[in-house]
Amino acid sequence: MNNEFDLIARYFSRPAPPGILGVGDDCALLAVAPGHQLACSTDLLIEGRHFFSDVDPAALGHKALAVNVSDLAAMGAQPLGCLLSLSLPAVDHDWLAAFAGGFHALAERAQCPLIGGDTTRSPAGIVINVTIMGQVRLETALLRSGAKADDDIWITGTLGAADVALRLLNNSLPGDPALLAATRPALERPLPPWHFGRSLAGVAHSALDISDGLVQDLSHILKASGCGAELDYDALPVDPALRGLDDALLRTAVLAGGDVYQLCFTAARDQRGRIQELAGQASVRATRVGRITARPGLAIHDAQGRPITVATGGFDHFS
Ligand code: ADP
Ligand code: MG
Repeated sequence: MNNEFDLIARYFSRPAPPGILGVGDDCALLAVAPGHQLACSTDLLIEGRHFFSDVDPAALGHKALAVNVSDLAAMGAQPLGCLLSLSLPAVDHDWLAAFAGGFHALAERAQCPLIGGDTTRSPAGIVINVTIMGQVRLETALLRSGAKADDDIWITGTLGAADVALRLLNNSLPGDPALLAATRPALERPLPPWHFGRSLAGVAHSALDISDGLVQDLSHILKASGCGAELDYDALPVDPALRGLDDALLRTAVLAGGDVYQLCFTAARDQRGRIQELAGQASVRATRVGRITARPGLAIHDAQGRPITVATGGFDHFS
């Protein structure tokens, strides 16, 4: 039961939905609806870099797909299917069963079936690559370059918990089991708003998913759109688990903390009602946190208008 083909058959081969040729041939085949573009994205997860060696494999399977689902949501695209390439130093059936279980569970929820991939032996450490494919109409795709002066800036979900969990796990914060228990799900089981993201196509002007920290990610929109922004720090949706944390830590976690996998998007002011309606339908929390300005630069202030500064811009693999 340890050869490559047995592993694929046992853990990764699932019947493909009608109209799709899934695992088992040289290529998977899938159709894109007329008038739509194929939306593709890929993410690489490396043991010791993106996940701890002892992470719960079911959570890892979930997250490997979730970070890709998040990219489709941020484009306003509908998931169609995904590919999984896995490089493993050894075959551990318990690990594989749990990993595949977490992966397929989210694939089913997000209607994004696993339709192919590659499986190899790794000389050192686990490497996971997921490629996701979806569809979106070109005219309504949520590009980073679409923000307009006077747009509202919105955020889904809450901020900060994943960053605090990461700091607790890598011991850059003193141990706090209760805080870890409350923040860990945000880090290990992010649930990007894929239904809501898709429903924003044609409603919002621009969007991206927050993976490297709000300030850094929002600046990508500002740069691509040639505009600036004012953020209201006190309006930001802080995860309730972070209540009572030291101010400086909170500020860094909320403004620069990564691994959020929620959306930051901009939309015209006259879409406020529609956006709250769509958020309600998708059971997603959507919070208005600022506005786009014609003048470049990102200004962050509190409710009293005092400027807020943050120590770090976010995560960069090569900095
Ligand atoms: P090839 O030799 O063309 O690379 P493989 O023998 O690697 O094909 O794979 C056989 C089939 O299994 C292909 O359809 C491939 O997409 C699929 N596959 C391989 N690894 C995985 C995986 N980890 N998850 C899903 N499908 C996989
Ligand atoms: Mg292969």
